[in-house]
Amino acid sequence: MSDVTFQPALYYEVTARDNNEACRNYEQTFTVAEFYSNDGIHCYVQCGLCRHNMEILTATLLDPQPEVS
Ligand SMILES: [Zn+2]
Repeated sequence: MSDVTFQPALYYEVTARDNNEACRNYEQTFTVAEFYSNDGIHCYVQCGLCRHNMEILTATLLDPQPEVS
């Protein structure tokens, strides 16, 4: 488990790594430019190929927060 923590209902820039050895994305790191934290607990970045949840490596609070239309 990663030790990245989120506050609820905020946008973060997140980097995440695929730890699924069976996946073509294995050990690749992805950046999510606008990741919404929802309730701050259920924060998952899912691999588009294997559908596993990636390990969240870093989370940087966006400042300013993006405008939501
Ligand atoms: Zn994967």
